[in-house]
Amino acid sequence: LRAKRQGKNHACFVAEHEVDLFGREQQAQRMRQALHAGELALYYQPKIDARTRCPVGAEALLRWQHPERGLLTPGDFLPQLQGTALECEIDWHVLEQGTAQLGRWAREGRELGLSINLSAATLLHPQLAARVTQLVRQHQVPPGRLELEVLETAALSDLAAVVAAMEACAHAGVCFALDDFGTGYSSLHYLRQLPVKSLKIDQGFVRRMLTDEGDMHIVRAVVGLAGAFGVRTVAEGVETRPHAQALAEIGCDLLQGYWIARPMPAAALERWMSGPVEA
Ligand code: C2E
Ligand code: MG
Ligand code: MG
Ligand code: MG
Repeated sequence: LRAKRQGKNHACFVAEHEVDLFGREQQAQRMRQALHAGELALYYQPKIDARTRCPVGAEALLRWQHPERGLLTPGDFLPQLQGTALECEIDWHVLEQGTAQLGRWAREGRELGLSINLSAATLLHPQLAARVTQLVRQHQVPPGRLELEVLETAALSDLAAVVAAMEACAHAGVCFALDDFGTGYSSLHYLRQLPVKSLKIDQGFVRRMLTDEGDMHIVRAVVGLAGAFGVRTVAEGVETRPHAQALAEIGCDLLQGYWIARPMPAAALERWMSGPVEA
């Protein structure tokens, strides 16, 4: 038990889980407001080809421009929404905003791909393929430009259902990436059945690969495995030039991280894309 609220003359004691529920409900309410007030925005972080260093696309990352607390990242607000209806509502919102942006880029002649993160709940939502198909048509997104990132751990929940969802989206020209790869427990059996285009090597392995031999082995193994399955690799959390060089030598396909660029608003990304690329 813990004090939930200490009024002037009384203290109200409730069980710990009730405090959580109360806090969660309040948080969800505030988040719903934010969604309707337009406080949620997408930032875009570029991905480059590891060999040529040319930009090939971006990942959309959610930000909350909070009127009092400033710019918040998903770690500040997404975990509290897990298991609530808002989790999917926010993913639908991001899908809508992201495909609209992708459609504009395509019409401007920019050959950029965009990755959008989905929660496990959205991946298994019965409406996913229908909504994605509708958005891709509505915003005239060329086939192959939209990629959906799902956590490796999310893809392991129900193999048959996940494969079906991914294949239904593939009909609309949408592909999938396994995010934070290496942190879950994917068996090769699973990997072989999932129709994914990319494996995103978790940033923990990337960060430590030059100082910890074990992490270097893991990065090499993931790149080798991806090659054998005909899947491309994306390294996340590339923070230094030596990391970028080592990853290119190992044969990793794409790089993403602060060394290349931080996540930024769409207009800034467009300027970044047309500016000189640091080599
Ligand atoms: P993620 O998809 O694995 O995204 C990578 C995270 O690493 C992002 O954090 C990004 O800003 C950060 N990052 C990129 N490069 C570097 C680097 O070089 N060093 C370090 N230290 N960090 C780097 P962010 O934006 O805070 O997002 C955190 C997580 O929240 C994402 O991890 C993703 O799982 C989730 N997320 C983000 N946007 C959405 C969304 O629209 N929907 C859903 N469902 N989840 C989202
Ligand atoms: Mg991601
Ligand atoms: Mg990741
Ligand atoms: Mg992550």
